[in-house]
Amino acid sequence: NDLAHKMSIKSGQVVTKLMGMGMMVTVNQPIDPETAAIVASEFEYEIKNVAFEEIDILKEEKDVTENLKLRAPIVTVMGHVDHGKTSLLDALRKTDVVKGEAGGITQHIGAYSVNTNHGKVTFLDTPGHEAFTSMRARGAEVTDIVVLVVAADDGVMPQTKEAISHAKSAKVPLVVAINKMDSANAKAERVMQQLSEHDVVAEEWGGDVQMFKVSALKKQGLIELMDGIAMQAEMMELKADACKRAVGSVVEAKLDRGRGPVATVLIKSGTLKQGDDFVAGEHAGRIRAMYDSNGEKIKEAGPSDPVQILGISGVPTAGDKFNAVEDDKAAKSVAAHRAQKNREKELMKTSRVSLENFLKSSPTDKGKELRLVVKADVFGSAEALVSALKSLSNKQVKVEVIHSGVGTITENDVNLAMASGAIVIGFNTKPDSKAHTLALQEKVDVRSYSIIYEVIDEVKMAMAGLLSPVF
Ligand code: GDP
Repeated sequence: NDLAHKMSIKSGQVVTKLMGMGMMVTVNQPIDPETAAIVASEFEYEIKNVAFEEIDILKEEKDVTENLKLRAPIVTVMGHVDHGKTSLLDALRKTDVVKGEAGGITQHIGAYSVNTNHGKVTFLDTPGHEAFTSMRARGAEVTDIVVLVVAADDGVMPQTKEAISHAKSAKVPLVVAINKMDSANAKAERVMQQLSEHDVVAEEWGGDVQMFKVSALKKQGLIELMDGIAMQAEMMELKADACKRAVGSVVEAKLDRGRGPVATVLIKSGTLKQGDDFVAGEHAGRIRAMYDSNGEKIKEAGPSDPVQILGISGVPTAGDKFNAVEDDKAAKSVAAHRAQKNREKELMKTSRVSLENFLKSSPTDKGKELRLVVKADVFGSAEALVSALKSLSNKQVKVEVIHSGVGTITENDVNLAMASGAIVIGFNTKPDSKAHTLALQEKVDVRSYSIIYEVIDEVKMAMAGLLSPVF
């Protein structure tokens, strides 16, 4: 109708033409730009697509195969609280073979690079699952390797299990650091045994996971761990093209009292230079100054380098995409467009995957997967529920329990579900208040049950597309 109107002809004529092309359309039906162009040309009109296409303005450059060079791995440290993540991150930073132990004043900008005997390694220095999952939930898959810290005197704990689930769901390989080996109660074998029960099997036991006995406190085994990380990276052959405009992700950002908005960007590919125009999330800017993780001023940053930048119009969010662009006009138009889009999205935030809409929201007919995070009050019921749910898998739908555990439903569970498009099922357990708020805010489907067959029934119905929404 609109198209006909613009060409000053009757809508019926356009419909007839489209039908002639084999498209059964009505006057109110939207058609794609290509079809519109063909129809219009039949009436001797030309179509110009004026829609705002972000990719046309960002002009991300393709990798040139000849320019691909090995890049440093990007590592996130995860593990149970108090198992030594922070201590290990601090200790590893001091293993730098170039700067040495003294190595200047430590700056915490969200990530740091260390030189090892096998090249550089970049660590995200916000340990834990929150940073990892919230970045993933925003589409920033920056981590190449997860270092799982397990205290030798405490063993596998709930957050250790969670970390394993996170890494598995993101398909990121693990390297295990069995920490606190200096402790009198250190039992490395027991840790390895417990990990193997979660399919994390040490190389020396015939598995494919490297495990290192370390002490962050006494600085023991750190070089071996670094070498192990470098070896894991070598196997992965991580490569990037440094000869193009920079693309990356924001890992941290804040408003600095003296300097204005500052952001730490992890460069994925390309080279970022002083004076470059860029977009970061819904903010634009021009690189006024750049600093590395030692607080030193730098003029350029390449693949896998964490760099703190000044010259941005506002404070972006961790996980936001970063692009250097041709000029400030491009930067500003993309930023403005995104800001507008985000406002619209905020207004009509709709539910992510829920049991009711799960079938409809699955993209294709084949390979539908219902992903679940299962929490229960006691281990026995968690186990029973997981195996009952898994056995519901049929030809059409696969039920995948991406994480299960015991206790209240926490923010971590909701984050994991959010990042992996999963639904949270609680059995005799409920979300704590933070998890509840987050689930509401992010529209993650969290359900609590107290009767096993009710869970099974609802999941079965959902799998058949028969569950109707409750309001
Ligand atoms: P996080 O919560 O995982 O970041 O753990 P922290 O790094 O804060 O460490 C928790 C506690 O364990 C602190 O009291 C550390 O001093 C202690 N710790 C960390 N690493 C070691 C270690 O290798 N040996 C011993 N004995 N204690 C450690």
